[in-house]
Parts: sequence; C-alpha cells; structure tokens
Amino acid sequence: MLYEGKAKQIFETEDPNEIIIHYKDDATAGNGAKKGTIENKGILNNKITVMIYRHLEEQGIKTHLIRMLNERDQLCRKVTILPLEVIVRNVIAGSAAARFQLKEGTEIRCPIIELCWKDDALGDPLINDFHAIALNLATREELDEIYAMTEKINTILIAMWKEMGIRLIDFKIEFGKTAEGELLLADEISPDTCRLWDAKTNEKLDKDRFRRDLGQIEEAYQEIFSRLEKKEA
Ligand code: UDP
Repeated sequence: MLYEGKAKQIFETEDPNEIIIHYKDDATAGNGAKKGTIENKGILNNKITVMIYRHLEEQGIKTHLIRMLNERDQLCRKVTILPLEVIVRNVIAGSAAARFQLKEGTEIRCPIIELCWKDDALGDPLINDFHAIALNLATREELDEIYAMTEKINTILIAMWKEMGIRLIDFKIEFGKTAEGELLLADEISPDTCRLWDAKTNEKLDKDRFRRDLGQIEEAYQEIFSRLEKKEA
C-alpha cells in the first residue's frame, strides 16, 4: 500500500506507471469530524466512477482510469495529484449557500469554478489563481488547462445526469500529472463528490444524506448506480 485516504487505499503494482485504487465503505464529513460507514459505498462508487470516466473518455477527456479490476478495485495510471480541489457550482448549495447567505437551490447566471488548497491540516481553504501559483501548487499553464478541461467536463456531466433525470448541483474534481507531464483527470466522481438532486422532486441523492443525517444513504447511492446502468443498457 502506498497511501490510505479517508475513502480509498492506493496500492502499487509491478508496473511503476500503474496503481490500484481500492474503494472502502468508510465515510467522513466536515474534514473528518463525522465518521461512519455506508454499506456497499465502495462497490457503488467504484462502479459509478468507472461508468462516468468511460463516458468522459468517449467525449475526449483524458483520465487516469485504465480499467475496473473487480467490485472494489480499479487500475489507474500513476499520477502526482496536484494539491487542488476544483469545485464546480451550477446551483448554490453547501458551503456556497453558507458563505453568501443564499438559499440552497438558488440559480446562478453561469457556473462558478472554485479552487481549494487540498490540505487536511488547513481544512482545504478556498484560494484563487494567485495563491495557487504563488504557493507553487500549480503553474499558470496548468491552471489554464485545468479550467478548460473542467468546463468541458461540466458540460458533459450536466447533459449526462439530465438524461437520467438528475440535476448536477455541484461537484469536486482533482487532476494529476503523469511522469511524462500529461495532465489527467484523476480521483473519483461519485455521490461522495457531487451534489445530485432528483430533477422532479429535488430529493438529494448524494453524500448530503450522510452529512445531514437524512437516512436512506445506501439507497440513494444505489439509485444513482441504477440510473447510470439503465442509461448504459
Ligand atoms: N466536495 C468534495 N470533497 C471535499 C469538499 C467538497 O467532494 O473535500 C464536493 C461536495 O460533495 C460538493 C462540492 O464539492 O459536491 C461542493 O462542496 P462544498 O464546498 O459546498 O462543501 P461542503 O458543503 O461539502 O462542505
């Protein structure tokens, strides 16, 4: 094992350019303040991420995913993750609702892209491009490429979820660089990292059910998986 995070473990393989990502059922919220397990979350998030990444690859987005190995493991290209959380907001919710004193669900004129410095000890503080460049987290060129890819990913994902009767409220993505210097979408895209609301009822089908003790957590993740499966069929 190379690294263990809150929801995943990373293992090395015989090939120095490839790693295995293992998805756990552990869930945390509020930077580790709330801890628990969501039964089968690891299996569902592994499968959900693979389906979404395949769809993004088909639309020309370069990702670290090579292939799914089994229910909980996926083989990926080894990258160095940039210490940035790239957050996209299509509708106001979560920390943006609190920060701007706006009601959750407030519509905005265009998507907002935010950067957070991925640092647990600091609580992932919100930063801007100047911070990222000055603190050596990314170069101007890397940020330009990240923003271009992020806008494209958002457009693809809004359409993909819409087809499944789901509103993509917001989400977080991460990027990594290969040894050759190629920038790739990395990490997961799942109900752990997106806010997904049912288009008809606005029911929350994501990790907010865990964060806010709304119950029916596993069912919500299962519902997202089922709708993706139906779309693929
Ligand atoms: N998010 C994430 N990991 C984080 C922080 C946020 O995946 O460490 C996702 C979260 O699920 C949501 C979006 O990024 O879809 C925006 O989160 P927000 O800033 O509102 O923070 P939160 O309310 O989750 O603390």
